[in-house]
Amino acid sequence: MWLLRIDIHVHTNYSDSRGSVADVLRFARLKGLDGLAITDHHTVRGAEEAARVSDDLLIIRGEEIVTNGGEILALGIEERIPKNLKTEEAIHRVHAQGGLVIVPHPTVPWFGRLRESDLMRLRVDGLEVFSSITPLTRYFTKRNLEIARRIGLPALAGSDSHFAETVGDAYTLVDTETISAEGVIQAVREGRIGIGCRPSALRFKIRMLNPTPAIRAWRMSCGFYPSDGRSPSQRTRV
Ligand SMILES: [Zn+2]
Repeated sequence: MWLLRIDIHVHTNYSDSRGSVADVLRFARLKGLDGLAITDHHTVRGAEEAARVSDDLLIIRGEEIVTNGGEILALGIEERIPKNLKTEEAIHRVHAQGGLVIVPHPTVPWFGRLRESDLMRLRVDGLEVFSSITPLTRYFTKRNLEIARRIGLPALAGSDSHFAETVGDAYTLVDTETISAEGVIQAVREGRIGIGCRPSALRFKIRMLNPTPAIRAWRMSCGFYPSDGRSPSQRTRV
């Protein structure tokens, strides 16, 4: 039996983080993590590189995916899942790969959230109740925990790190039989988890709102900044 500290929500510079894979892994070790899920937007290349170069940390291949109803985190997948699918279809594809569907920052209105009514009917496997980079962390965590209890979903925590320095600010404590992605997935399904968390430093929350020109260009190409004032999910909804 192992008790592992896993940050379930980490970005690298393969999407819109300023942190390289090497720096992300360095800070993960410094923070005392046992493993992390690399969940870049719409790519698994950062996760693949991390899995290739790390021989001590458990690397879970993941992706943060925009669906037509909001964002989901896929943990434990091999193949990239395209963006803008119907939410049900994206969830089905994650489960078909044996992965977990976690809903990130579920109540933060400007982060592309799914509605509570969606969460009740969709086959999601857990809620990220604590996200270190979220503004008003205490307020949103309380609301997220209430929803998790109401629906009966496991509560997880992740850093949603977009800077190497913030990796591990939050983690999910996992009671697992094996040190493997499969072991972590099984433990989450069975609710053998806890959370450890603190908000990321304010300077990182502010820098998150002031992306570099390269990150801004990347986000533009992914439709993060809609010109018509509606969210990407609203624009692709049919
Ligand atoms: Zn994220």
